[in-house]
Parts: sequence; C-alpha cells; structure tokens
Amino acid sequence: MFKKVLIANRGEIALRVIRACKELGVETVAVYSEADRESLHVRFADDDVCIGRPPSRDSYLNIPRLIAAAEITGADAIHPGYGFLAENAEFAEKVTASNITFIGPTPDQIRQMGDKAAARKFAKEQGVATVPGSPGPVGSPEEGLELADKLGFPVIIKAAAGGGGKGMRVATDPEQFGQSFTLARQEALAAFNSDEVYIEKYLARPRHIEIQIMGDQYGKVMHLCERDCSVQRRHQKLVEEAPSPAVDQALRQDIGDAAVKLAEAIGYVGAGTIEFLLDADGSFYFMEMNTRIQVEHPVTEMCTNFDLVKEQISVAAGAPLNLVMNGHRLRGHAIECRVNAEDPSRNFQPSPGLITAYHPPGGPGVRVDTHIYAGYTVPPYYDSLLAKVIVHGNTRTEALARMRQALDSFIIEGVTTTIPFLGRVMRHPDFVAGKVDTKFLEREPQLLKDQT
Ligand code: ADP
Repeated sequence: MFKKVLIANRGEIALRVIRACKELGVETVAVYSEADRESLHVRFADDDVCIGRPPSRDSYLNIPRLIAAAEITGADAIHPGYGFLAENAEFAEKVTASNITFIGPTPDQIRQMGDKAAARKFAKEQGVATVPGSPGPVGSPEEGLELADKLGFPVIIKAAAGGGGKGMRVATDPEQFGQSFTLARQEALAAFNSDEVYIEKYLARPRHIEIQIMGDQYGKVMHLCERDCSVQRRHQKLVEEAPSPAVDQALRQDIGDAAVKLAEAIGYVGAGTIEFLLDADGSFYFMEMNTRIQVEHPVTEMCTNFDLVKEQISVAAGAPLNLVMNGHRLRGHAIECRVNAEDPSRNFQPSPGLITAYHPPGGPGVRVDTHIYAGYTVPPYYDSLLAKVIVHGNTRTEALARMRQALDSFIIEGVTTTIPFLGRVMRHPDFVAGKVDTKFLEREPQLLKDQT
C-alpha cells in the first residue's frame, strides 16, 4: 500500500479521497489555491501545500506545481479526483515519470478513450453498438451536411476531445447545420485545443445509462451495475439513481457485458464509467468512456455496499480484485441530488458567497458528501457544487421519500441553491413513476421557477 497520497483536487471529492485514505491507513497531502486556504480538505489532510493563485490554470491545472508538491511532501501516489487533470494523459505520464503512482488507468488508456470519435470506432470494432453517425471525425461543413441528410435531422455535433457538455451542438435542420457545425468547432477549439468534431443522430427520448467498471492490474474487470442519469440540464447531470427504473436484470446483463468487454479489450485498470444511451425500444448505444471516478459514484456505493474509492486506491497499489459482482449483489435503491450554488429561475446563474447558516439532513440511509460549513465562502472560480445528497432505501419509493425529507430539512443560507428545485423534481409525477428521459426538464420548464 502507499505511504502518502496527494490529492490533486479540491471540494467534496478531495474530502472523499481523504476519508478513503484514512480508512486504509494512508497519509494524505492536500493541495490548495489561495482561494481555498480555509477549505476542509486542507484541515483534514496530514500535509498541505499551496499551489498558486485562484484561477485553475495557475493552481489545480498546473502540472509542475502538483508534481513538485508531491516530491516535497514525499507522496508516493497522486489521486486526481474528477475534473481538472483527471483525464489528462500528459499529467498521468508526467506523474509516472516522476516515480509517483497515478491512481487511475495508464496514459495510453486515457488517450484511447479520451478521443470520443476514436472510442466510438473502437466500440464498433468490438461489436458494441454506437449511435448511428459519422465513422470518424468530420472534416468540413459540406461533408457534415451530406451525412446529416443521410442520418436524418436532428443530429448532434460533438467535440472529439469533449467533456462537460462543451463543444456540443444540436442541429435541427439543414439550414441551421452550417452554423451549428462552426459553433461546435469553435467551442471545441477554445475548450480543448482541438477543433475535431463528429456527428451522431440526435435520439428523441433516450435515457442516460452508465455502467461502473473496476479493473485490476492482472486483467480482471468487473462491473457494478448501472446508474441512470437522465435528469439533465443542457446535457449535464443533476440527479442520478441506481438501479435504473428502466433496466431489468436481462438488460443489465447485456449492457454490463458490453461494458466489461470494452474495458477488458484495453486491459483497463482502476475505476471507470462506460456511458450509453438507452432508446425507448430497449436498444442501447455506446456513447463514451470516462476514465476516472465520477461525481455520481456514491449511488453505486450505496446499493452495492462497495467502497469505490478505497478499491481504486488498492488496485493502483497492485491489489487484485477479490470479488466479481457483474450485476449481482444489488441491494435496495439509491438516489443522488447535486446541490449547486445556482439559481434555477435565472438560468442556473452561479451564486457564490458566504454560507451564513448550515444544517445537513440526516437519519437512516442519508449520506451528504460536502465540503461546506457555516462561515465558508463559496469561491467564484470553480464549479458550483455545494453538496451531494445521497439516500438509500429498501425500495425506490422509500428512497424517494427519504430524499424529499432530506432536501426539505437541508438548510443552507447566504447563497441561492438548487435545493427547492430538486425537491420539485422529486415530487414530479414522471420522476416518481421513473419515467424520465434526457429531455424531461426541457418539457417541464415550470420546475425551474421559484414557487415560494
Ligand atoms: P460530455 O462528454 O460533454 O458529457 P456526452 O457525449 O457524454 O457529452 O453526452 C452528454 C449528454 O448529451 C448525454 O447524456 C445525452 O443527454 C446527450 N446526448 C449526447 N449524444 C446524444 C445523442 N446522440 N442523442 C441524444 N442525446 C445525446
């Protein structure tokens, strides 16, 4: 096992990794920007290093400073969390070259799956269905338009290097296609330094279903069932649950097998997620792979009783997977709501500032992963995630009731939060019935309005 792990991240995920390390008896190093001096991850780690000014590029994205911080503190491994450098192959390579273990897959695996157009091609070669679309990157608007005409509108243009919903545009008709194509390319270039894009048919009412994967260094891969992340805004997840109300054991086996097949084909090591779109007719299509731990990993932990972060660290240290779940061992139902410092009635405008009062929900089956506290100031520089509320129940109905009571008793004052909005989602008849797809919020704009 490692002696000391540096966490190249901040916020709730830094705390999550620190907790896992403490349970494993591993020391921790927190890194922080000048804006995060008062953060809990700094207080709870054994060691801490300030790595620069608040903007991410000067701190959490600064590779030489992160590696220097690990060297100075004697850390023998780095956990990247999610976001920032978690899927940056160059970072993984430089960490490894400095004789430090990168807690995650190999740089080659990150690269292979990081290019979404290449990953699509790879999935197809492995016999896993992908959404109908371009065989590879599309070079010109003319070529794109010809293909879109063949596929039928609407289509979605996506950045090959994409992530976080950036560089993604839907084109609804041929007239609008050229402009959407150019915009997607420009956005892709600005966000990822690559203007390569590809095209997929834009499915009408898909569900977002993803499979949690874990692989060890000896070629063994298992999956830990699906998560349903269909409640989205602008292609970004807001609520996640496991198991999916739309997946039965047979479908679970099929999607799980497809995911394991892909991960095995690249000898995948560590925690990863393979994302699919599930169409209304039960067909599922590979969309992309995320080569890291995800924000929504706790719903899987709650209904498999398996600590994904501890396992991620153990596997990186060379431990073998000692059980293979592959869709079994599910118990009950888990739901996660992402509580953000945002105002849904104002287009989810961020609401940074001082938290004046804080009281988290509790009780049986309620888990809150957060880094905030009364007196904490939410800085304007990073994402606006304040807390994740995760509940577990013996049934979906019990989990839903638990989530409603948890949200209703969650007090955060001083900043505007998405708590009331999430409470409305948890009471919406379609969500209660488990009948939502990725366009649910588009159809229900009244959910965004402040009703108090
Ligand atoms: P990112 O990597 O930026 O997160 P993804 O490729 O994972 O982007 O897609 C994010 C979301 O966009 C999906 O969960 C889904 O809601 C929507 N989406 C992506 N591709 C399609 C498609 N072909 N048809 C319909 N919706 C799509």
